[in-house]
Amino acid sequence: MDNYKIDLVREKLENSAFITVLTGAGISAESGIPTFRGDEGLWKKFKPEDLATPEAFRDTPGIVWEWYHWRRELISKKIPNRGHDALVILEEKTQGFTLITQNVDGLHVLAGNRNIIELHGTLWKTRCTGCHRVIEDRSLKMPLLPTCDLCNKRLRPHVVWFGEGIDPLDLEGSLKACRECEVFLVIGTSSVVQPAASFAALAKSEGAFIVEVNVEPALQIRPDVSLTGKAAEILPLLLS
Ligand code: NAD
Repeated sequence: MDNYKIDLVREKLENSAFITVLTGAGISAESGIPTFRGDEGLWKKFKPEDLATPEAFRDTPGIVWEWYHWRRELISKKIPNRGHDALVILEEKTQGFTLITQNVDGLHVLAGNRNIIELHGTLWKTRCTGCHRVIEDRSLKMPLLPTCDLCNKRLRPHVVWFGEGIDPLDLEGSLKACRECEVFLVIGTSSVVQPAASFAALAKSEGAFIVEVNVEPALQIRPDVSLTGKAAEILPLLLS
């Protein structure tokens, strides 16, 4: 790792009042949660179009819920890593900090970040398909097909599936954070899922300094600094 690049990013972070961070599955890899597109990716074993779509939930809700119960069980045993922890320190040191995550594992919340936009939702909330009530539920003992206490309609995971739109408030908040930031840090995402894949370009067009942290750089635009390596190893260096 080039020390001058680390020093440059550290200085930028120290001298910036507004910092926005975008994370993807790569930041949780060191916590033992498989990414979707790496060699160990979840999608090597399961096809997303069979599981993470509204159509799959309509036709085979039991199979979809079984997959989500399995993921909740798997992730319930995982804890934040040094990469997540570094972002908590960064938030504490920064006047205007926004963390946009595509992850649904809830590890940024567990680590202690506060201003988080969970762009693709979270595994730890359910939403009623009838009355649309969203509630937090960390139970690992749900029935296979959970139903709403209020209206008895079927519950679904509160996540954004393929073919579904992002919550308008989350999108608006994310775009604002991209436009306003001085430094935009993009960590562990393959930058193929929209709209998040376009956030770095938006931040750059508004003058932000762009930093990518990834084991295999994937941004579709040229960052000001690319740090190649594991998020859990690189992020602590940027703050020390
Ligand atoms: P992705 O699987 O498409 O890409 C992961 C990226 O992380 C790749 O670019 C890879 O090179 C990089 N990476 C792998 N290990 C890394 C490490 N140790 N340090 C830094 N970078 C590393 O993930 P994505 O871009 O977030 O894809 C988006 C979709 O994947 C989202 O919808 C998200 O909900 C979903 N997803 C979430 C989780 C989770 O919540 N932990 C896990 C798998 C997939």
